[in-house]
Amino acid sequence: MVTSHSSVLSGTPVVPGIVLAPVHVVRTEVDPLALAAFERRGFEHPEDALAAYEAAATAVADGYARRAETASGAAASVLSASAGLARDKGLRVAVEKHLRAGEGLVASVGAAVEQFATLFSGMGGLMAERVTDLRDIERRVLAHLAGEPEPGVDVPEGTSVLVAADLAPSDTAALDPARVVALVTERGGPTSHTAIIARQLGIPCLVGVAGATGIAPGTLVLVDGQAGIVDLEPGPDAAARADADLARRQAVAAWTGPGRTADGHPVALLANVADGSSARDAAAGQVEGVGLFRTELCFLDRREEPAVAEQADVYAEVLAPFAGRGHVVVRTLDAGSDKPIAFATHEGEENPALGVRGLRLAADNPGLLERQLDAIAIAAERTGADTWVMAPMVATVQEAADFAALVRARGLKPGVMVEVPAAALMAHRMLEVVDFLSIGTNDLTQYAMAADRLATDLAHLTDPWQSAVLQLIAITAEAGRTAGKPVGICGEAAADPLLAPVLVGLGITSLSMAPAAVPAVGARLGSVTAGLCDGAAEAALGALSPAQGREAVAKILE
Ligand code: PEP
Ligand code: MG
Repeated sequence: MVTSHSSVLSGTPVVPGIVLAPVHVVRTEVDPLALAAFERRGFEHPEDALAAYEAAATAVADGYARRAETASGAAASVLSASAGLARDKGLRVAVEKHLRAGEGLVASVGAAVEQFATLFSGMGGLMAERVTDLRDIERRVLAHLAGEPEPGVDVPEGTSVLVAADLAPSDTAALDPARVVALVTERGGPTSHTAIIARQLGIPCLVGVAGATGIAPGTLVLVDGQAGIVDLEPGPDAAARADADLARRQAVAAWTGPGRTADGHPVALLANVADGSSARDAAAGQVEGVGLFRTELCFLDRREEPAVAEQADVYAEVLAPFAGRGHVVVRTLDAGSDKPIAFATHEGEENPALGVRGLRLAADNPGLLERQLDAIAIAAERTGADTWVMAPMVATVQEAADFAALVRARGLKPGVMVEVPAAALMAHRMLEVVDFLSIGTNDLTQYAMAADRLATDLAHLTDPWQSAVLQLIAITAEAGRTAGKPVGICGEAAADPLLAPVLVGLGITSLSMAPAAVPAVGARLGSVTAGLCDGAAEAALGALSPAQGREAVAKILE
């Protein structure tokens, strides 16, 4: 049992959400006495034992397949994969080998599973996480052999926080989110099956919580799926926190768009995409268009520049799903620095983040940009999509003007990214030559704070809540307001639900993000008025630190 000196356990956060409920500890072992009795009875011939194994493994596989038919999405694929693994010939051959060596059937199944578990663990990544599936198959096969019921999760009435060493896909796939309000496991990583299914069901979840199964069953705990903690001694405000969080999650689930504040001020919520497949997924959701298509991500593995016709096909795949429903902002190649592209990037730069990257590549290789613009124009014409085109890493108004001329010559709408502080300071002049601006807060923050966006120990500086960054955003948005032209955000800052009202208060007209982040941002904006957004912006700009800014804004909004 967990003792009083460790009242807070921590682990890896997987699905955010704050929940207060009693713990139900899952034990999924087959009765050891029944197994021992079965092993003692034994079989006359190894063939008989193998036949018994095959019958049990087939029954287990059929059980998974039946459950897969009634499940959907990730749960269904996880169950089908387990059915396949239970029927695996390699596993059967390994069991047979141990039987022929004179071992009992229970021991042979155990040894075969162990052999495959070691193999999968050695492969790492997703394969390593399939070890959980193997162990579940083992338990179920042994239960069949011993004539015991298959192990499973037996959740009591009311709500529970389900705690287990690890949960098998067959356990998690059948969970009822009305009763299981949080999942906590000792093992597993963020890509484990428990994590995948918790995400699909929207159940707050933590994995890798050492000591979790030692919590006494029935203990009332506060699970915070964002902070990654289980508090065994929740304070007096725990119930209120959990209730407020439940209301927030319900609002996110119910949000249907379009993006607007509670009093109707429109804010376009757009998707960041990388290729045709992500664009089709985004179009199936509630976004109003694409705010950033990172074209360089289509060519990371290419040694040679793709021909115009091939590029046009790639771009058309992204444009087509949005034809007739909002615009698509195509960004020209942002090659260099953290995204090297073999056919474009300059080799051996001392400091690539400050080197020849993005639009700067066009200076000594103008054909690269022109051929890409030709391909975008062909794709726009072919699909009929409202196509906007923007350049990355623009620092001067002259660069913006040259780029805009090339884009306009092809009948497209030009814009530039604001990622360099110089561009933010000159936003009013930029808007004399282009039709829109899109702020890349990832790079704008890196360059404003002189802090590498990839350096974990500089994370306190590479924070878009830094008031210097917010000032640059304010200057850019104000320039847009004066010119009557749109200014959006397409960096990670757009996906922060607490920051969204601040950005709107600063005058930002669209937010572009990973589609999965849209409902939380949309629900937040739908809960505040434009006036509150103005107040939030003022508070964030005036804060001395990101932490102070977040606290002040949370107080205003909540
Ligand atoms: C940014 O810098 O914020 C941006 C959107 O571009 P990327 O992340 O691709 O550099
Ligand atoms: Mg950038």
